[in-house]
Amino acid sequence: MYVQPSGGLEQTARGADAQALLRNCVHCGFCLPACPTYRITGNELDSPRGRIYLIKQMVEGTAATATTRFHLDRCLTCRACESACPSGVEYGRLIDLGRELVEERVPRPLTERAVRRGLTAILSRPRLFGVLLRAGQAVRPWLPASLQSRIPARQAARLGASTTRRARRVVLLEGCVQPGLRPGINGAAARVLDRLGIGVERVAGEQCCGALGHHLGHAQRALEQARRNVEACGAALDAGAEGIVSTASACGLMVKDYGRLLADDPAFAARARRVSEATRDLAEILEPAELRRTAVTRSSGPRVAWQAPCTLQHGQRIGGRVEALLEAAGCTLTPTREPKLCCGSAGTYSLLQPELSHELRRRKLAALLEADPQMIATANIGCLEHLRAASPLPVRHWIEIVADALEQPGSG
Ligand code: SF4
Ligand code: SF4
Repeated sequence: MYVQPSGGLEQTARGADAQALLRNCVHCGFCLPACPTYRITGNELDSPRGRIYLIKQMVEGTAATATTRFHLDRCLTCRACESACPSGVEYGRLIDLGRELVEERVPRPLTERAVRRGLTAILSRPRLFGVLLRAGQAVRPWLPASLQSRIPARQAARLGASTTRRARRVVLLEGCVQPGLRPGINGAAARVLDRLGIGVERVAGEQCCGALGHHLGHAQRALEQARRNVEACGAALDAGAEGIVSTASACGLMVKDYGRLLADDPAFAARARRVSEATRDLAEILEPAELRRTAVTRSSGPRVAWQAPCTLQHGQRIGGRVEALLEAAGCTLTPTREPKLCCGSAGTYSLLQPELSHELRRRKLAALLEADPQMIATANIGCLEHLRAASPLPVRHWIEIVADALEQPGSG
């Protein structure tokens, strides 16, 4: 696609980046059937190709409007279109750029700005979020049903790993909303790693990974959070930690991107690249063969419907690993239709675009429940809570299921 940056972007690094990213799109439309929003609305402007066209117009200096912002806002950033694109278009980077431009050129109404700032402020502060969550849990029985379903019942935190010091150690990222919503997930991860001879440590000063702010157009705040995490995780690597591990696929994806996001910051570029290169999703450091050696594999293990978060399969591109781990732990995976389609969670999307989000959840749950599973497993706290709020079956993080298999009597 021919692109000529204009309207202030000519002769700039941002304009050159945009030109390089847009050039690869040949407008073939192969990405359209993969796009969840296009599948629902049938509107070309809600498709990857349509949004790319809107971004091209902004790069070439055509005035952006509230309609431009509306259609870019409705993108889930699921990146299913990237997986489907035969020309290698980096749509995730394009939508980031498009959102930056639209935020600069089409200011939002005051109330919208306040809501978006409020969401970033609350969700990225674990203590504040924890206090508000506990208050919500306390009054949950008296709330209307629609609100009750959004607030999970309080979950008791189970103990983490033993305190024996291990020769191998990794940093386990806490995350911001996960410790409050599901304190059992990181505990289960720590216990499984401990059984396999890997100790975990938490780093003082860990911040929200920045993904929330990044996708809501608060780029500078997200970069500040990234810098603080680079400092904290870098110090742990200096002290001998062999890697950084995330149990939330959205956070892991963001940390893996720090190297690129901070590439132009001379004080942080090298350190950010090191932290990104050392970061792994939990599924990348466990091996099915190791689990088979330690788990009692029962032919009657739970029937599990696996929901692969977009950040795992389209973002980190590590589809297939969790499935192998669950099977090694004795689970039977039930077949699901359209495994590449987003569940509609997408960070704050479920709060800001409830209609599209709920329709996607309805479709996803129908597909997951078709083959009569006993539970649903996923790998990201956002997807987990979004599905749980409407699911008739338990929705769990896969590591909780693996931990159960390893901890049953007879497992070594
Ligand atoms: S993004 Fe890829 S699949 Fe979609 S229209 Fe452009 S080249 Fe085709
Ligand atoms: S990221 Fe997802 S919602 Fe956005 S255009 Fe691509 S496929 Fe559609």
